[in-house]
Amino acid sequence: MSIQSVDVLLPLGLDTPYSYLVPENLSLKPGDLVHVPLGTRGMVGCVWPGGGARTVDTAKLKSVKAKLDFEPLPEDLMKLIDWMADYTLAPKGMVLRMALRHGESPGPQRERVGVRATGRDSVRMTAARGKLLALLADGFVRGKGEAAREAGVSPSVVDGLVDEGVLETVVLPPEPAAERPDPTHSTPTLSPAQEEAAAELRQAVADKAFSVRLLDGVTGSGKTEVYFEAVAAALAEGRQALILLPEIALTQAFLDRFTRRFGVKPAEWHSGVSTKRRARILNGVAKGEVQVVAGARSALFLPFQDLGLVIVDEEHDPAYKQDEGVCYHARDMAVVRARFARAPIVLASATPSIETEVNARRGRYGRLALPERFGGAKVPGLAPIDLRKEGPPRGRWISPRLAQEMGETVEGGGQALLFLNRRGYAPLTLCRSCGHRMKCPSCSAWLVEHRFRRRLSCHHCGYQAPVPEACPSCNAKDSLIPCGPGVERLQEEVQTLFPEARSLVLSSDLTGGIERMRAELDAVARGEVDIVIGTQLVAKGHNFPGLALVGVVDADVGLGQGDPRAAERTFQLVHQVAGRAGRGAAEGRGFLQTHMPEHPVMQALVKGDRAGFYETEIGSREEAHLPPFGRLASLVISASEAHAAEAHARRLASCAPVVEGVRVLGPAEAPLAVLRGRHRWRLLVRAPRGFDLSAYLRAWNAAAPKVTGNTRVAIDVDPISFM
Ligand code: ADP
Ligand code: ZN
Repeated sequence: MSIQSVDVLLPLGLDTPYSYLVPENLSLKPGDLVHVPLGTRGMVGCVWPGGGARTVDTAKLKSVKAKLDFEPLPEDLMKLIDWMADYTLAPKGMVLRMALRHGESPGPQRERVGVRATGRDSVRMTAARGKLLALLADGFVRGKGEAAREAGVSPSVVDGLVDEGVLETVVLPPEPAAERPDPTHSTPTLSPAQEEAAAELRQAVADKAFSVRLLDGVTGSGKTEVYFEAVAAALAEGRQALILLPEIALTQAFLDRFTRRFGVKPAEWHSGVSTKRRARILNGVAKGEVQVVAGARSALFLPFQDLGLVIVDEEHDPAYKQDEGVCYHARDMAVVRARFARAPIVLASATPSIETEVNARRGRYGRLALPERFGGAKVPGLAPIDLRKEGPPRGRWISPRLAQEMGETVEGGGQALLFLNRRGYAPLTLCRSCGHRMKCPSCSAWLVEHRFRRRLSCHHCGYQAPVPEACPSCNAKDSLIPCGPGVERLQEEVQTLFPEARSLVLSSDLTGGIERMRAELDAVARGEVDIVIGTQLVAKGHNFPGLALVGVVDADVGLGQGDPRAAERTFQLVHQVAGRAGRGAAEGRGFLQTHMPEHPVMQALVKGDRAGFYETEIGSREEAHLPPFGRLASLVISASEAHAAEAHARRLASCAPVVEGVRVLGPAEAPLAVLRGRHRWRLLVRAPRGFDLSAYLRAWNAAAPKVTGNTRVAIDVDPISFM
């Protein structure tokens, strides 16, 4: 007998789909989500194209159990999954998992039940019943839970009155996942430069073809305003748009602006959104009801039915790179998705990544330039403060000149921001008696003191312990002293220098989560804080109208650690932080504390010489054959035994395919030699531009000895972390 079968890709560490029989009453096509038996239990997978429905003759296959009541995954998303698996060498099933694992499993939503008054009186009135009936006296339907909450009674009161017939239940239509944004809600008057850029973007949306553009504008030039015009164009055609943002959880300002422009909030997609709500958004996106999603990198895997536009805001941001599990760069993969969806994509930044800048220079990407701040405000310059000549006294980090400038700013009613990219109180704690350094028990990293929480913590694995009273090595009492500054310690110094000023630390690790963070950012924007002390968190897209002074406490942090992107990262961060100042009425000023004012990055920052920075940096990348002029892939070999990791790394290195122009560097112990108790060794592959690194790695994999025990090899194509 001949029977139909299909290929089903499962969200597991597998590269190929499994075949299943199709029951006679079922008709399946690629993209359909199906329930299939696996082992003793079942699992949801996706019917995968390629194999298609073919006729097989076998008795061994199991049957598909059911087809889920869900839109099929769109073709462009399946192509993205195939492409990503091929490019990153991640098992295809694990890439699929990112498109399926959105919290609750996809499927129809539970019915919502509402109640309304029937007009009948209750035979047994109580105070609680009175409250509830008073609320419902207007005759409107309310959700059951909502009615109880509003009336301040327990849900059982509602049930009691339903049983008595005083209230009746009504099935409510499912709550919409997001309201429809209105493209004409409030249209801005654009400056001529903005209008020119907006017009080109509207045309790109109308063209319904793949294209990439860099929206290159200084901070405050109105990039958001401009790409909103492209979003409006997509909305006007009834199509969907995806806006990727780094750290979306914190960008309340963005949501507010979207609301002002389109009348409603966009659907938000990030880990801070409840699983229930995410399930609703997922359904809405699949049905085409949710038109605009603003999300973190995982929003890339949503099943848009009619994607008409993709925006990657702050495209240079390293938060777009995921370097655990499936290692991918969301900006690059967004370009791939846009290509498969035949949609235009806009990469927006005031400090484009070198990769994107080079693509724009080569003409592979278009460039839309907004060279001036909207309304003519000036991007603040940065005055260097040479820490070798006019540094602060010992144990302090704010130089006398910066302190004086801050004092004047605050006295004049302006706000000051101190930027230091170090969380906690002190990056290192050591014993004054014996020199012992407090180290993480499972990582090769120092423990960072967090004074607010009174704990030492490891920023790599999350290990925490109270600060001990005695040195664990020599037992000397009260001998542990903090070394170096973190933002918490800086606040202490600010409080000493300016006892009257209201200061606030903004850092991603403070308790209270997203809600508190948003409230604090709002407080800063409203001028309720005089001095803000922040980590890189403050560099990102916030609008602080009262901010008049920015002080970069240690511009040298991050430079010279063997990271090929260190210069770029420093330039971007400092430039973005400086761009926070002078957005409102006040003119902004910036100060840059550094030990190496002659360093080209510092020079470019001080002179505000963006073009000069790109010139120098692109030149040195090209000379060193670093990305985008060459390609890199890293292999991290880890094991709980040091010798096992090293031995496998050496075996792996010895069987690397020999190809002209390709060099394998290492193995070497990783800078972060132990992480979460696992010993780490690294190999780095360098290849010429345009070389098919993925194919090379696949060939290497095939030739490599099998890993044994708990040894693991993690491959990262286009790595940005070299730790
Ligand atoms: P960017 O994203 O380039 O940093 P924004 O889009 O945030 O710039 O714009 C900076 C500020 O200028 C915002 O407060 C924004 O509302 C305002 N702005 C920009 N363009 C316009 C415009 N055409 N009309 C009114 N306000 C504008
Ligand atoms: Zn640790």
